[in-house]
Amino acid sequence: MRGPFKKVPPELWRSYQWQIQNRIKTKEELSRYIRLTPEEEQGIERTAGLYPMAITPYYLSLMNLEDPEDPIRLQAVPRKVEVEEDVQSLGEPDPFREEGPIPGLTHRYPDRVLFTVTTFCAVYCRHCMRKRIFQEGERSRSKEEIDRFVAYLKEEEEVREVLLSGGEPLSLGNEKLRYLLSRIREVRHVEIIRIGTRLPVLAPQRFFEEELLEILEEHSPVWINTHFNHPAEITEESAEAVDRLLRHGIPVNNQTVLLRGVNDDPQVMLRLMRELLKIKVRPVYLFHCDPVKGAIHFRTSIEKGLEIMDYLRGRIAGMGVPTYAVDLPGGKGKVPLLPEYLVGKSGSTYTFRSPLGGLVEYTLEVS
Ligand SMILES: *Cc1c(COP(=O)(O)O)cnc(C)c1O
Repeated sequence: MRGPFKKVPPELWRSYQWQIQNRIKTKEELSRYIRLTPEEEQGIERTAGLYPMAITPYYLSLMNLEDPEDPIRLQAVPRKVEVEEDVQSLGEPDPFREEGPIPGLTHRYPDRVLFTVTTFCAVYCRHCMRKRIFQEGERSRSKEEIDRFVAYLKEEEEVREVLLSGGEPLSLGNEKLRYLLSRIREVRHVEIIRIGTRLPVLAPQRFFEEELLEILEEHSPVWINTHFNHPAEITEESAEAVDRLLRHGIPVNNQTVLLRGVNDDPQVMLRLMRELLKIKVRPVYLFHCDPVKGAIHFRTSIEKGLEIMDYLRGRIAGMGVPTYAVDLPGGKGKVPLLPEYLVGKSGSTYTFRSPLGGLVEYTLEVS
């Protein structure tokens, strides 16, 4: 493993700071490692300032450097299609109307609030649903902004869960993170804190830091939702990151996004779900790709998602089957989708399609 970074000493390679400081951000730097296609060269040039590029050496090391269609490369290297108006005009910068009453706050469900704490990310994923914030530069919420958020929380007594997102919330320094979590914990009606982080995938070295793990554990119950999209992202390092979180009592769940060219293949998805269970990560969601401007070329049909769900059922434990969901535009919520299993009914006899093949009649008298 480690590809072109074999010579980096382990103490640097295992340092999150080193991974962040050595991110690949320019065409010239990236050309040292891969031969860019014209589509990518123009992509990097034309997305500059709009949807910038940053790739950790670790994430780059997961690529097959010879393959322009490599699933890691598709998620990390800009392409010209991101700014092609005829393709992207179907998308909107913010299809979910996320901007709420306070900067960074979205309060869509009565019991849960979403708070985006920074625009910084270790890697700027090309399919990001919040691509609109890339151009704001790398900025984190100030203590004053956190205080305003906490004041809002204190007034909203129905809220049981705070969902921290970004950007990358765990890119906050330890001091800021401790401040944020301890202020949230002052609010008695908040039961759980959920952190949406992609660092287990993009820079798992962050979790090799004992202090971070202790901060998370101190503010328990904290749940982690991460974002593995392809089996190639499951490595010794990402498994170690998850293992360290679990040892500190922090459950790790996963949300995958269905992406054309990356994982829109039933066998790839089955391998991903199996590999997740092996590292004790529970696959919770498979999201249909959102109509986000700049990322719309990753979308597949809904039929493709249903085909994948149908393939998974019966081939992996139930706990390895995520819920396939579409986030409705306009902030109208996430809806689950399932292939049809109940295919007919006559009197009290129901006809089911079995995941093992064939139809089964089931007569069910309800008293
Ligand atoms: C997705 C989302 C949530 C969390 O939904 P879950 O189904 O609990 O994962 C909460 N608030 C907003 C605004 C969201 O977009």
